[in-house]
Amino acid sequence: MKTISRRISLPVLLEIIDEEKINLDEILSYYNLGYSNKILISSKELYQKYKKYLNFRIEEKFFINIFTLDEIEIVIKNIKKLSNDSLLIGFGGGRVIDATKYIGLKTGLKFFSLPTALSHDGIYSPVAVLSQDNGMKIRIGTPSPLGIVVNLDIVQQAPIETIRSGIGDLLSNLSALKDWKLAEKDEGEQIDNFAYILSYLAYNSILNLLDKSSINLKDKEFLENLAYSLIISGLSMEIAGSSRPCSGAEHLFSHAIDYLYPKKSIFHGIQVAFGILVAELFRGEEIERMIEIYKKIGLPTSVKELGFEKKEIIQAIKIAPKMNKERYTIFNKFKLSKLLIEKMISPLL
Ligand SMILES: [Zn+2]
Repeated sequence: MKTISRRISLPVLLEIIDEEKINLDEILSYYNLGYSNKILISSKELYQKYKKYLNFRIEEKFFINIFTLDEIEIVIKNIKKLSNDSLLIGFGGGRVIDATKYIGLKTGLKFFSLPTALSHDGIYSPVAVLSQDNGMKIRIGTPSPLGIVVNLDIVQQAPIETIRSGIGDLLSNLSALKDWKLAEKDEGEQIDNFAYILSYLAYNSILNLLDKSSINLKDKEFLENLAYSLIISGLSMEIAGSSRPCSGAEHLFSHAIDYLYPKKSIFHGIQVAFGILVAELFRGEEIERMIEIYKKIGLPTSVKELGFEKKEIIQAIKIAPKMNKERYTIFNKFKLSKLLIEKMISPLL
């Protein structure tokens, strides 16, 4: 009998802790993971701010400042001189984790993700977003982390925008899933139901919390749930083997902003959250409920609140489908003229 199976890469360990110290050596030995070298990848600023939490042996430290591909390549050259029995520890926000994923890909070393903020589902996803020298971003498929350790005490101290961004990235799953269904209907694209369900659950669990009458985004219980949902979202992408379950038209919109206005672009999940409103309007859906939630948690609900000019946003929507021509979304159903876009997004102007 033929056995059909598939391989997915699950982290060996996931720890969500709320402690004054991260005893990584203890955690590693508990999981029978022995690494003679631990290589910390961080930014100087974050390391200085949070180094008191790092209660474990670190053999080498590499700080990244501007996070361009060139700068990360220099780190890779230096790391290659070290032993193979090394574990990379990405300690920082999205950019640090993404840089660590890329370093893991290039060096073949395993890596841990120790996020200092819950700003997007990249904590655990097989994709790294990196900046080129000209400011343009590229997306590269990478291995997933060997382990994830989230310290709630640290992520609670991150700016509130990082939390809003993490929420936005999760809410976008619904928009991404609608596009996936659309691609199935119009293009015959195959849906992976495991990936689909996980992405939906991640979205739904955060939505249920946001529906409560009062919500404190800095509450540790909420942050714990946010971390779980972001990780489940990452898992859905790992299962699908692409970002499809968590990235549709709303992400293309955000990528277009990054591409057109690299100096002006803001947190990924906040741009994506605005992209959901845009995509929903193109789908002909009501956005009142989303607007209500956005207002409650401080996500932008108008072009002005997002910090852009009307013409900039119209241009971003116009070129959004070009950001990933393979990804079929609601935007493919329209001829995106300036006039049409302006009419469609009028509730956001
Ligand atoms: Zn995202």
